[in-house]
Amino acid sequence: MDKQRILILGGTAEARELAGRLAQRGDLEVTLSLAGRTLDPAPQPVPVRTGGFGGVQGLAGYLADNRIDLLIDATHPFARQISANAERAAERTATAMIRLQRAGWQPVAGDRWTPVASLPDAVAALGAEPRRVFLAIGRQEAHHFNAAPQHAYLVRSVDPLDPPLTVPAVDYVLARGPFAEADEVALLRDHRIDVVVSKNSGGAATYAKIAAARTLGLPVIMVERTGSGHVPTAQTIDEALAMIGHVASGGRKRGV
Ligand code: NAP
Repeated sequence: MDKQRILILGGTAEARELAGRLAQRGDLEVTLSLAGRTLDPAPQPVPVRTGGFGGVQGLAGYLADNRIDLLIDATHPFARQISANAERAAERTATAMIRLQRAGWQPVAGDRWTPVASLPDAVAALGAEPRRVFLAIGRQEAHHFNAAPQHAYLVRSVDPLDPPLTVPAVDYVLARGPFAEADEVALLRDHRIDVVVSKNSGGAATYAKIAAARTLGLPVIMVERTGSGHVPTAQTIDEALAMIGHVASGGRKRGV
């Protein structure tokens, strides 16, 4: 019998872990897709293809050409374009699709969150008065904060910002998670940060900055998620594996 062919859209720790778990099964052919944004990506447990597909049409073509049976969108909760494209390409090619997306963080006692819908809204929420801002939102969207040059920024990213921000007061720190709370407290203290801007990414690897803000009594401007809700979604690897088992046994389209 043909092996079932799975394409995982990745770029997250969960995608890598799921690929590793699926690779242990002998009946699947798994490919992981990366956008190619990270200059030195972590090693992956299955064959990798890298770079954009060329929009919905390109992804639909890939699914058809490679006879993909199941598309798994395991991209970051804020990678909105590829998730939207995946949904449309799966629909267009009648390819089964599931999403693996970790749950968002929930505020707990002591948290001082201001929820906002987008990064431009986060910029506005900083207000007119100069503040010392910790930005750990990835390097792609940090440029939004050029619109508020009255603040001083500490920007953390895996790779350097290119181009850098145009604001007059900015420091950069390059680091890849996971981060420990004690280190985050020290970082926020050393830089005399008075507000943190974060995406509600969920997961343990980057939660320490949120816990550190709580410990220090600092406000957090939290960019919340928007999701389509149309695709069956697992929040954990085990849930995803259960769904994949279901699709594998009942949802094959090829050869039916
Ligand atoms: P995005 O805005 O949703 O996607 C922009 C374009 O990048 C897509 O239209 C697609 O190009 C390409 N692309 C994105 N993910 C891809 C993948 N896994 N494989 C092949 N092409 C992909 O994405 P983004 O926010 O820039 O994120 C890029 C990658 O970084 C994603 O893989 C995501 O999981 C990861 N990541 C993102 C964040 C975040 O905060 N956004 C955080 C951590 C990791 P085409 O239209 O040409 O196909």
